[in-house]
Amino acid sequence: MAHLSGHDRTQLLLLPEAVDDYVGPENPVRFIEAFVDELDLAGAGFARVRPKATGRPGYDPADLLKLYIYDYLNRVRSSRRLEVETHRNIEVIWLLRGLKPDFKTIADFRRDNRAAFRPVFRSFVVLCRQLDLFGRELLAVDGTRIKAVNNKDRNFTRAALTKFIQQADEKLAGYLKRLDEGDADEDGASGASGGSAHGDPRLAEKIAALRGKRGRHKALPDELERTGEDQISLTDPDSRAMARMTKVGVGYNVQVAVDAKHKLIAEQEIHSQVVDMGLLAATATAAMETLGVGQIEAVADRGYFKIEDIEACEAAGITAYVPKPVRGSSVREGFFPKEAFRYDPATDTFTCPGGQTLRPCRRGQSRDNVKIDYSNREACLACSLRPRCTKSYRHVSRLENEAVLDRMAARLAARPEVLDQRRTCVEHPFGSIKQWMNQGAFLMRRLENVRGEFSLTALAYNIRRAITLVGVPGLIVAITA
Ligand code: SF4
Repeated sequence: MAHLSGHDRTQLLLLPEAVDDYVGPENPVRFIEAFVDELDLAGAGFARVRPKATGRPGYDPADLLKLYIYDYLNRVRSSRRLEVETHRNIEVIWLLRGLKPDFKTIADFRRDNRAAFRPVFRSFVVLCRQLDLFGRELLAVDGTRIKAVNNKDRNFTRAALTKFIQQADEKLAGYLKRLDEGDADEDGASGASGGSAHGDPRLAEKIAALRGKRGRHKALPDELERTGEDQISLTDPDSRAMARMTKVGVGYNVQVAVDAKHKLIAEQEIHSQVVDMGLLAATATAAMETLGVGQIEAVADRGYFKIEDIEACEAAGITAYVPKPVRGSSVREGFFPKEAFRYDPATDTFTCPGGQTLRPCRRGQSRDNVKIDYSNREACLACSLRPRCTKSYRHVSRLENEAVLDRMAARLAARPEVLDQRRTCVEHPFGSIKQWMNQGAFLMRRLENVRGEFSLTALAYNIRRAITLVGVPGLIVAITA
């Protein structure tokens, strides 16, 4: 029996007569087309929305935006690879109606319109809101670190710079010594035989290169002093050394607020800030605006625990759930944690594990907050629990505004499962973005460019999720409704 065989390539009408025949009604490119055509591109900030009156016609930003959305949706982010797709991919040929911009045009478009991608991301959130895909009740806020275009060897803290300069000095001294020894050998040899080969012909080159490098690095501590930063990155100056899982890499802190209903991203932002602390209220507030709600719940991990941020959440209508980290010298030394002391707001006292009453003994300052210490020196000195509690007598501190943390602790005690909900919500987008979408690293340098890049990534994640939930025809109907 013969094998299956395809058509004869020279056969007439091998292809159907229209490219449209290759793109079915469920094809995501039909949604991309409809979505972008309905956007207010000038309002979003795209350049050259109106064609120039004179000169060579340029590409419509709508076409280039469609290309980018399609390609991020299909895990293609490099401008050179995007150009290739315009030549060989029937879906892209359909979407761009045969236009074939070169990679430079494609790359320039992303760079020149970097700030406009966030409004596009938000427009899609609004569309999903209309489709009731957001529960708008609970947000899980979390951060992940994505690698920047900056090698770890090109990031320095003050201490690393000092070490680098010291090592360079030692290396230079070694080179110079070898050079002197080489000169001495040469002199000796020339005295004996009238000339000899030099020890290492590339030594002078190495010395010049190292001196240049040392000179450039010598100026960096002054730069750190001027900017007040504690580290500097040489390739992408906005990136920072951050812990990624168990390793430290140079990258950006990606914050997302994920709606619990369908794990769609309601808001995203990129920061150079290394830690998550202090980013909860800002991220959740921005999500609330896009979701069009005045009140919402937000859950985050203990890395976000900061009293000023929890207060800001309350003021903004956000009911926060953040577990308290176990910190402090008492815990480190194995003494009773603060949680073992019960505070009574009616009497403004603590009851300790020994059943004694600790009263306010002094007021101080902790960052911007007033801190009050509570103690009972006499009781401690006579206490049999003292070896488990303190070395001399115990102080317990409380911030003047700590009632906001008490309220949050009570909420968490009543609803501990919200922490598991947080984990399942954020794992989905981060897992998809890093694994399936293959975005373990940014392609562009500088914070504003990276923000534009991630807006496209988050948009692609949301589109893929929404297509799974309502399908392409359902999304198109919602756009045109
Ligand atoms: S050492 Fe002081 S604070 Fe600690 S349990 Fe005893 S009395 Fe209470």
